[in-house]
Amino acid sequence: MNLDELLHNENLSRDEIVYLLNLERREEISQLFQRADEVRKKFCGDEIHLRGVIEFSNYCSCNCLYCGLREDNFSIERFRMTADEIIGTAKLIYSHGIRTIVLQSGEDTIYDTDLISFIIYSIKKEFDIAITLSLGQRGFQEYQSWKYAGADRYLLKHETANEKLYEKYRDNLKLADRLNHLRYLKKLGYQVGSGNMIGMPLQTVEDIADDILFCKELDVDMAAICPFIPAPFTPYQNRKHGDALLTLKSMAAARIVLKDVHIPATTALDSIEEDGREQGLKGGANVIMPNFTPMPYRGKYTIYPGKRGIHDEPKAAFASLQKRVEALGRKISVSKGDSPKLTSE
Ligand code: SAM
Ligand code: SF4
Repeated sequence: MNLDELLHNENLSRDEIVYLLNLERREEISQLFQRADEVRKKFCGDEIHLRGVIEFSNYCSCNCLYCGLREDNFSIERFRMTADEIIGTAKLIYSHGIRTIVLQSGEDTIYDTDLISFIIYSIKKEFDIAITLSLGQRGFQEYQSWKYAGADRYLLKHETANEKLYEKYRDNLKLADRLNHLRYLKKLGYQVGSGNMIGMPLQTVEDIADDILFCKELDVDMAAICPFIPAPFTPYQNRKHGDALLTLKSMAAARIVLKDVHIPATTALDSIEEDGREQGLKGGANVIMPNFTPMPYRGKYTIYPGKRGIHDEPKAAFASLQKRVEALGRKISVSKGDSPKLTSE
């Protein structure tokens, strides 16, 4: 197969994506990253979009086998932030010039329809900022209410497009339901993010190719691809973490296939690989999601151990992030960073 021709193919097949994921020679892998960088530049430009993340509750009623927040993990101390604390943190994010916040939590229905609506409305009333929700699978009516309240985007990773593995990883939940939620969110007009983990037990490169094609079929606005990192006191605690290079290759292949989507250089990648963030940004990524969860809580949102930046103060972390971005010759966006699909229309 001629690699250059393949990298310029507008419509890669499953086998061709697998071929890219299996590349081993250094020069060929560099070619893959270079092409992903070109496609990123063409469809998304040079700006890097920041999303300030607030992890406001680590309570979860689900039992995903891979996640440190799973309900059956009795070893972690649970917390919930108040509405005032969440709104105050949104203000801090805004004061750093960041124009998107991500409200993330376990599936925690103590934050009911009205409470989440109130938080969204209160933030949108005061600040010109986009809101991404990442609250797991909630009710269809709730999604609708939160859209009315002003939410802009929803991040709900499909985790794996392999039905059998999905049921295994998510304690018998169904991939078809996840897909229905994702489709409904799109129908409501949310900009939708999905994505998957790399290096999960029993996962093959064919599964990863299917994950990328799943994102294509769903026409997502963002694809978040991160390495799996084993968390203590979970069924997968003794597994190996996902491979950083395979994660980078998957992100690059996703960029070439999906083109006009946002792709984050994730904290998980940065946690297992020195300069993981930079490598991601050089190979197709265009988004960074700095953590603004206040200090007393941040250390308790233990999806996985060894999260980079867990002790950093927001101000210092932000300054260091700016330097890292400038060193790449890129610049931080001052816009809300809506989906490239919307902005190119
Ligand atoms: N509860 C919501 C949900 O599941 O969509 C949002 C919070 S959940 C902690 C956010 C993401 O964390 C998941 O979509 C999953 O991909 C990721 N995650 C969970 N456990 C992980 C692990 N051990 N390693 C890497 N990422 C993980
Ligand atoms: Fe809960 Fe999300 Fe973790 Fe699953 S991945 S256990 S839904 S927080």
